[in-house]
Amino acid sequence: MKLVDKHILVVGLARTGIAVTRFLARSGARVTVTDLRSAETLAAALDELAGLAVDYVLGRHDEADFAAAELVVVSPGVPQDSPYLLAARRAGREVITEIELAARFIVAPLAAITGTNGKTTTTTLTGEIFRGCGFRTFVGGNIGNPLIELVESGEAAERVVVEISSFQLEWIREFHPRVAVLLNLTEDHLDRYATFDEYIAAKMRIFENQDAGDYAILNLDDPLVASLAGGLKAAVFPMSQQREFAAGIFHRDGTIVFRHAGREERFPTASFKLPGVHNLDNIMAALATALLLGCDAQRALAAVEGFVGLPHRMEFVRELDGVRYYEDSKATNVGSVEKALASFTAITLIAGGKDKGGSYAPLEPLVRERVEHLILIGEAKERMARELGQLTDTRQCTTLEEAVTLAAQLAAPGGVVLFSPACSSFDMFRDYAERAERFKAAVRALVGRSGR
Ligand code: ADP
Repeated sequence: MKLVDKHILVVGLARTGIAVTRFLARSGARVTVTDLRSAETLAAALDELAGLAVDYVLGRHDEADFAAAELVVVSPGVPQDSPYLLAARRAGREVITEIELAARFIVAPLAAITGTNGKTTTTTLTGEIFRGCGFRTFVGGNIGNPLIELVESGEAAERVVVEISSFQLEWIREFHPRVAVLLNLTEDHLDRYATFDEYIAAKMRIFENQDAGDYAILNLDDPLVASLAGGLKAAVFPMSQQREFAAGIFHRDGTIVFRHAGREERFPTASFKLPGVHNLDNIMAALATALLLGCDAQRALAAVEGFVGLPHRMEFVRELDGVRYYEDSKATNVGSVEKALASFTAITLIAGGKDKGGSYAPLEPLVRERVEHLILIGEAKERMARELGQLTDTRQCTTLEEAVTLAAQLAAPGGVVLFSPACSSFDMFRDYAERAERFKAAVRALVGRSGR
């Protein structure tokens, strides 16, 4: 892709926009940057770009800039139907996001990971395996560093792993991962998508530009993912905890088995540190990706054994009076809460937050079977109480701290207090990480029955 003298409009000057602008300007493109925020608000960003020949249109957008640019690079947060983007399209301009731009300049084998849940865990673990196998590796996309920072740095990564969300996938054109992973599909983001089908269609675009030499790793235990396996151009590489394959990856009797092109590798799971059956999915996806892209099995196993997981995903906080406390603030949808509930029994569940528009009904069997007390907080508490309240002892609290105190009173020794909200955090907190810290602080402040 030729950049010299190309007239490019960058929309949005957050971290990614800064990196995009720097890369394009240094590559000789004629760059205009536009952001609705004022120059004053953006002072720090402008400092970072000082000395580069860039035009700025700040505090507003000008439709003429969108129509005049040869290429528009937009932040994925901007809605597809923004009138400015429509103006660019009407004028026949190409509109892309940073990940699409960056991928056009990457030559190393690229793995892309998507799904409703498990993306960050799987992406991080895949990166750890590549590194453990001696590859210079870049991990980024939706987590950590924007992909364009790799391109901009000029460093030669040998393997690239990106986490990619449905929002980013909406914008791709040529994005072409050598290995694409679809972990699962359950309802999420229905506050942003008109229908679940629209969300699924966005996710499926990860496979759109693949061809026969590429791999699509699909979790066949997820009925929806399995139903979408036909018609892909890439070679389907299946994974399952229920079925076995002559070519694929599966779990049987405490061993993960990888089979491909006459090669068989076996990975005993006894020494893995990640809890929960869903993490076996994540591990299988990461191992399959790594082995298909040239990793050695022994070193891959060592990397998995050394991986302790990420904070805020079913993280153990403490044990008090025989009750174990887990923080799962990143569980912002029903699919992730299902996995958390399936991992424990005798649960006192603290849930609720900002409703995302889906149904809580998939939780019914597990709530009935495993949740002894349900404590609800946040904007969604009334709705959750209507949908789940008749299944178990259900209470409502005003603050998270109050919910933790009540949970400590209700939970019996041998049980678990689990904070797995099934909602986003924005009604009461800055983000899921702040919500997590508040929960952990409240748990640490609890005083046990012995007074300690
Ligand atoms: P994502 O990046 O897709 O949000 P994370 O790895 O950050 O995924 O995990 C988010 C939430 O989903 C956590 O509550 C975690 O325990 C749960 N989770 C992780 N992996 C899976 C999976 N494969 N299936 C369902 N839930 C999962």
